[in-house]
Amino acid sequence: MPFEFNEKIKNLEPYSPVSGSYRIRLDANESFIVPGGEFQEDILRRVGEVAFNRYPDSAAEELCALFASYYGVNVAGVTAGNGSDELISVIFNAFLQKGDSVIVTEPDFSMYSFYAGLCEAKLIRLERTASFKIDVDLLIEKANETGARIIIFSNPCNPASTVVSRSEVERLVKSVNALVVLDEAYMDFCNESMIDSASAYDNLIVLRTCSKFAGMAGIRLGFAVAGRAISGVLKSVKSPYNVNSVSQAIGCAVFSNPKWLKNAAARICTSRDMLRSLLSEIEEAFPNEFRIVGSEANFIFCKCAKAEGVFEYLKTKGIIIRCFNGYLRISAGRNYENIEAAKAIESFFKGGDGQ
Ligand SMILES: *Cc1c(COP(=O)(O)O)cnc(C)c1O
Repeated sequence: MPFEFNEKIKNLEPYSPVSGSYRIRLDANESFIVPGGEFQEDILRRVGEVAFNRYPDSAAEELCALFASYYGVNVAGVTAGNGSDELISVIFNAFLQKGDSVIVTEPDFSMYSFYAGLCEAKLIRLERTASFKIDVDLLIEKANETGARIIIFSNPCNPASTVVSRSEVERLVKSVNALVVLDEAYMDFCNESMIDSASAYDNLIVLRTCSKFAGMAGIRLGFAVAGRAISGVLKSVKSPYNVNSVSQAIGCAVFSNPKWLKNAAARICTSRDMLRSLLSEIEEAFPNEFRIVGSEANFIFCKCAKAEGVFEYLKTKGIIIRCFNGYLRISAGRNYENIEAAKAIESFFKGGDGQ
């Protein structure tokens, strides 16, 4: 008998982010700010002190304490992960058994359905409303009638850049038996966080990441915040040395510099607001072609009938964004990057460059 692959992996392909080199990268919602000055010195000093021959601290204690103090949460509820991506996988592995139901919203971050598939869970997809929000009543109904074990969504939403209010999320958490996993990867650009009450519920996990506002996508660092019981499970299920020493050291530098962090988040919000106002000029000029849908995160989501055409045209200008069927997602970048991207989109609609 030849060795055969099982069903759940048979048709999988490696995750393939945008490849190729582009002058202006507004495709991955990364930060455009790179650490400099004293902050950079602090990072290098801490990395210099790492004992490379030793295993890392498996509980990432110092890091979790600094994270907890930055967000004003209880450190007992904090678990660090190799990116929040790993934590999604840890959560699913812990709380799902084969055949359990997981509710995701459409559209949302693709990793949820990917990891649910690896757990052989049953995926239930709930369409977002016309304005890309979540109909919380419908979600509650669906969760309770299907006996779903997990509800997971990003808030603010990637890709829609819309947000569900804190009071609505609270109502959801209180009304379902399912575990609600709230991915707040972009909540540092917005003000509806549940992080400070994560420990008040026994069915809530809030995920955070250093990949976006902190500009640390390269070190792979994310956090899960929950009550004691859930937190105990996550710490037991994760692999012991999931966050390497270098990432822990840099993460400690990050959360030891709250001023730098707050300033970075504010600068990114300013850039986002600038990009939105540039794009709203295009919206006014070409209302039938282009419409802003959401701008709550560090990227703008736009409805655009010729999304594919715009995407290809920007590529010819050395600018990369993300294209979804009939929609564009544009990350906020440096001023000149925002300006160039907006100009190129406008020029596309004006029929410039013989496109
Ligand atoms: C970028 C992003 C993350 C971050 O994942 P990391 O593994 O921490 O880099 C998580 N969730 C959503 C919705 C994202 O867009």
